[in-house]
Amino acid sequence: MKDLFIAGAWTDSTAQTPATRTIYNPFDGSELATVSEATAEDVDAAVAAAKRAQPEWWGSTSATERGDLLRRVADLLVRDREELARTECLDTGKTVKEGRIDVDDVVSVFRYYADLADKDAGRVVDTGNPDAISRIVHEPVGVCALIAPWNYPLLQISWKIAPALAAGNAVVVKPSELTPMTTIHLVRLLAEAGVPDGVVNLVLGSGAVVGERMVSHPDVDMVSFTGGLATGRRIMAAAAAGPKRVALELGGKNPNVVFADVDLDTAVDYALAAAFLHSGQVCSAGSRLILHEDIHDDFVAEMARRAEAIVLGNGLDDDTECGPLISAEHRAKVEKYIEQAVADGARLVCGGTRPDDPELRDGYFLRPTIFTDVASDSAIVQEEVFGPVVTVERFRTEEEAVRLANDTEYGLAGAVWTNDASRAQRVAGALRHGTVWINDYHPYLPQAEWGGFGKSGIGRELGPTGLDEYRESKHIYQNTRPAPLRWFAGNGGV
Ligand code: NDP
Repeated sequence: MKDLFIAGAWTDSTAQTPATRTIYNPFDGSELATVSEATAEDVDAAVAAAKRAQPEWWGSTSATERGDLLRRVADLLVRDREELARTECLDTGKTVKEGRIDVDDVVSVFRYYADLADKDAGRVVDTGNPDAISRIVHEPVGVCALIAPWNYPLLQISWKIAPALAAGNAVVVKPSELTPMTTIHLVRLLAEAGVPDGVVNLVLGSGAVVGERMVSHPDVDMVSFTGGLATGRRIMAAAAAGPKRVALELGGKNPNVVFADVDLDTAVDYALAAAFLHSGQVCSAGSRLILHEDIHDDFVAEMARRAEAIVLGNGLDDDTECGPLISAEHRAKVEKYIEQAVADGARLVCGGTRPDDPELRDGYFLRPTIFTDVASDSAIVQEEVFGPVVTVERFRTEEEAVRLANDTEYGLAGAVWTNDASRAQRVAGALRHGTVWINDYHPYLPQAEWGGFGKSGIGRELGPTGLDEYRESKHIYQNTRPAPLRWFAGNGGV
């Protein structure tokens, strides 16, 4: 097994006794692969390789050439689309259909940053002095540690790798220990596309060993992390010792606000997708449905009817609509939240248990779950469950809807549904969330910034800001006609 990529070579772990990890398919617990597990020393080697390679990568390639490389990666991703989609399905439990959408998104992100790489060389600043030239130029941050979660392994790591390379950085990459397979494949494509040795390095292993060493390593200049709030806090604390730059994409508890004037069929349809896509293991999942009281009962009844009909199964099967949760541990955590919600007095409308189907027995499945009559300050409403669980609250006035939607420590995304255009704009303006959808849910674009207010994170991915995350701005000021200043009169002064 040579699954670590360090200084341009596929290598094994340097652990004294062979260090490996088995990767399982969450659909049935079967073994998918065994991969190398890096040590802290392997991380050191990866960081050293990145540190050696970065100045040359930045110094000897033009921005246009870096863009060309990213474009070649995009073409290779298109070539391997089906294999990548299947691998993501096996590794995460999501459907192949979702896997294909992820790959398509990743292709457009690589193309977007390929195009952006040479479009902004900086700017000239007016000095007010005809003998002075002032320019702002962009330079890479240096060595970036990129750490990704298990729910969108290929997509999340690509949102980091593409802008980091476009900006001229060298990177050390760590996928979640649960889902490394498509990241390994992506690194192979980067090598095939011609990324110079040491510019991209891959280490596999746990957050506790590999992740922590990446974050605390003195030669790492920046950490870009996507994952949970608790880990984000730990990473920020460790980075403070540098201090080093951090970009954090953390969790969400996202409101989906529906006014009474909408088409019920459409709004229910989107509410299902918002809450149950990828079994709710989506940072922007619409896990907090906020309904106008006039439609509350009809909406909930119809949504429950359709939620009960969602086809759970193997993501490889065409008719599967929802796969399993990522692991037995994660399902147990979600089940705890469900138990607690019931104990807190919430009304369980549907779901809440594992499916009876014997064919799903070995997978980590949970039925789509809807709670009504929830207290807004209860754990099920305030904490990120990250499973197929949606809570429903009701409102009477627009002000109440906005208050509920903003009543969260997170602020990643949210939606408002109404046919009243001015109300839509008012509510969208009032929501303290990084993305607000009006009469839609879930779309994101490579061109549009993605990230959170509040405890959903620091910084933005995608869009031009996503490139800026990986750049330093440098001010270069030139006096074209230097002459003695005579500030100090005794120093040869007049
Ligand atoms: P975690 O925070 O548990 O882990 C994320 C990554 O960080 C993994 O690679 C993990 O390693 C690593 N890690 C864990 N501990 C440390 C540490 N001390 N130092 C450095 N790295 C560490 O998140 P999950 O993988 O459980 O993913 C789910 C979370 O991700 C949810 O909260 C979700 O909201 C969030 N997320 C946010 C998104 C956004 O755009 N805002 C998008 C997608 C997910 P390992 O697990 O391998 O040990």
